[in-house]
Amino acid sequence: MFTPTIDAEKCIGCGECIDVCPADVCEIQDEKAVVVNGEECLGCESCVEVCEQDAITVEET
Ligand code: SF4
Ligand code: SF4
Repeated sequence: MFTPTIDAEKCIGCGECIDVCPADVCEIQDEKAVVVNGEECLGCESCVEVCEQDAITVEET
């Protein structure tokens, strides 16, 4: 199982991580990306690669 975490201090709400996610794990709320379906995460790390703010980490648990 994989757990994505988004650092709200770093996130600028660009939405790139949402566009690339194959599992609709995150959405934008109040101009920040937030994890809404963490249990669906596939661990592909596409969101980590696309985030220019280095705001996302994905941990295997
Ligand atoms: S790609 Fe990074 S900065 Fe952009 S919305 Fe996602 S977490 Fe925030
Ligand atoms: S690791 Fe992949 S499946 Fe998980 S949130 Fe990021 S883009 Fe979505």
